[in-house]
Amino acid sequence: MCVVLLTVLIAECVATLIETTTLVSYENWFTAGEIFAWITANRFETNDIADYCLRYVWPYWIVCSLIYLGIGVLVWWLTVVKNTLLARYTAIGIIVFLAVPFALPGVTNSLANEIACVARQIRNIEKHQNDNDSFRYNSVRQEPAVDKEIYVLSLGESVRYKNLSLNGTYNRETTPLLGKQTDLVLYSDYYANATLTQHALPMLLTDAQTDDFEQHFGKKTIAAAFSETGFKTALVSHRAQLMNNGYHDYLAKNFDTVVFVKHDSLIAPALSNLAKKNDKLFVVTHYLGNHMFYTNRTEDCLVWRPDYNADPKTKSDSLFLNAYDNSLRYTDRLLNKEIETLKQTHRVAAWLFVSDHGEYISPKVSGHGHTYHPTKEEYHVPLMVWYSDEYKEAHPEKVVNLIIHKDEPVCADHVFWSVLDMANIRIDSTLQQEGLSVFEEEVKYKGRTLLLPDGKTIMEL
Ligand SMILES: [Zn+2]
Repeated sequence: MCVVLLTVLIAECVATLIETTTLVSYENWFTAGEIFAWITANRFETNDIADYCLRYVWPYWIVCSLIYLGIGVLVWWLTVVKNTLLARYTAIGIIVFLAVPFALPGVTNSLANEIACVARQIRNIEKHQNDNDSFRYNSVRQEPAVDKEIYVLSLGESVRYKNLSLNGTYNRETTPLLGKQTDLVLYSDYYANATLTQHALPMLLTDAQTDDFEQHFGKKTIAAAFSETGFKTALVSHRAQLMNNGYHDYLAKNFDTVVFVKHDSLIAPALSNLAKKNDKLFVVTHYLGNHMFYTNRTEDCLVWRPDYNADPKTKSDSLFLNAYDNSLRYTDRLLNKEIETLKQTHRVAAWLFVSDHGEYISPKVSGHGHTYHPTKEEYHVPLMVWYSDEYKEAHPEKVVNLIIHKDEPVCADHVFWSVLDMANIRIDSTLQQEGLSVFEEEVKYKGRTLLLPDGKTIMEL
């Protein structure tokens, strides 16, 4: 009996260390989304998380381990040395009592429930990632009288609306270059529909929404709709991003060309190369971007000091916020370069940028998707559209509509339809939905929702 009890105790100790890590880091119990993110994390994220844990969480690990060591000795003494009926029941009572915290933290996210949610998501991916092989959008388009066009869906990482000086109210100049772009429209009231990349991306690349998230397994990504109308399609992504991991690479399979780059600064040059080789081109670009802990920037972007990473003297709000804003300066440069690349093609060209989700920054808590109570900063993110002079000439009515709707409430459900409509593509009448494109005359207002970290609970916004 002693061996069984000690084995359970070791499991409880491991669970305590995991929960302590998230309680200290995110002030919340471990969620399914986090477990899944840890399993699928790339080396960049793993290093950052490990670094953070080593810096701040290790004292808690030592205290927890020592407490469990003491309890282990007590259980051994009760069951082996003392070995009376009362002593054995006492040992069992201690073990059961220690299990209570893992069963209770909210019936919706006990550790067992969260692990079951992760297992369900992984099973789904393994079972369904090839379900879309026979799917077709049957897309059609009324082509403008031009030979060369290029459309880009640009996906950011953890960019929150509130911190962009482009919005006209943030007092730090985080987007000086984008701020100078004419023909760039920023939507003021766009919400993401998930706070984790693994949930957000499938809903941006297909027409799946929060209430039918798993439907995306049966559909091809938006690249297929472009291919069907004669476009060459490409994915240019940072190699540490989602579509380059073994669980989510099924999202990359509908592109003609897939380019994984080792640094975000190589995304615009890759786009430029693709544009030289293809007359009709659709590209999805995906950045490593502004993921915590905000190290993705160059030295000359360190405008606000002290920076959490460059000057890690103490753990404080300003250090985190400064590091985040410094990383936004870098994002501004990269996105501006992407727009300039498109401008230089002198084609009918349009670019739609959204961030997969936002970011919550505080002295003790940092990140996104860690709780079942996300803050507005985690889902109020930028939707931006830039169009070339040639595009404006070819589609004046679309540009007018785009500008008219810029302060209306829209969300990630509008992205798939807007990108198709941006290129004048319509899909099979049984699938086509009206009023979900920001390029249409009327945009349907629909309730906005968020898919929470377990991948099934939906929160009304
Ligand atoms: Zn993300």
